[in-house]
Amino acid sequence: MFDVLIVGGGAAGMSCALVLGSAKLKPFAEGKRIGIVMHQRTSHLQNALFNNVLGLAPGTTGAFILEDGKVQLSHLYPHVEQIEKEKVKSIIKSSEGFVIHTNKNSYSSSTVVVAVGYTNLVNIKGLEAYIEPHPRSMLEKDRIWLKNDNHLVEENLYVAGTMAGWRSQFAIASGSGAQVATDILTIWNGGKHTKIHDKI
Ligand SMILES: Cc1cc2nc3c(=O)[nH]c(=O)nc-3n(C[C@H](O)[C@H](O)[C@H](O)COP(=O)(O)OP(=O)(O)OC[C@H]3O[C@@H](n4cnc5c(N)ncnc54)[C@H](O)[C@@H]3O)c2cc1C
Repeated sequence: MFDVLIVGGGAAGMSCALVLGSAKLKPFAEGKRIGIVMHQRTSHLQNALFNNVLGLAPGTTGAFILEDGKVQLSHLYPHVEQIEKEKVKSIIKSSEGFVIHTNKNSYSSSTVVVAVGYTNLVNIKGLEAYIEPHPRSMLEKDRIWLKNDNHLVEENLYVAGTMAGWRSQFAIASGSGAQVATDILTIWNGGKHTKIHDKI
């Protein structure tokens, strides 16, 4: 049983995982089981080249970020379980949260974060009721979002990144993942607003 399972290993999913992982020393995060289905094959980062992102050296490729993000997560926060080589097929509500079926396994989680990008090719059973045309992209591109209120689709089901309705910029997608992580941490912290900062 996961406390949080993130679906999608792109900009939003990995940012969410890093911020959740970074709370590891906080008492309210003790014993929490965090996982990420680290599917990256269809990430928009695969072909991207970044010159306009603060903090990224100009010329950084999305392909590098995909690899480097996984290494950063496993080196700094190895307690965050990275589930490789699996693709989510359904997210079904259960009495304890959600059951997530992949092409290989099934997982249970109290909370799920969907961060699978905004292409209309997404075909995850259980999400159909929330899919609508994307509110901030060109109609002819046929992008979608999961209708949400501040990233919350329904109780304990979050969406992050472009699929949350944001425009496609790396910083926006990453920030959306980080926002969802701090919302979850705030709940774990009994409703007390929470952020995780390291300092020198
Ligand atoms: C060619 C190109 C150039 C770009 N250049 C720039 C730029 O210069 N500056 C800038 O700011 N932004 C740029 N972007 C945009 C940036 O890459 C996106 O905004 C960002 O990647 C969106 O993040 P995301 O997490 O929403 O989606 P993604 O990064 O696409 O991540 C979605 C993840 O979900 C996974 N997934 C999909 N389906 C499933 C499933 N069923 N189960 C599990 N996982 C699944 C995918 O494999 C992927 O890893 C560019 C994009 C492209 C395509």
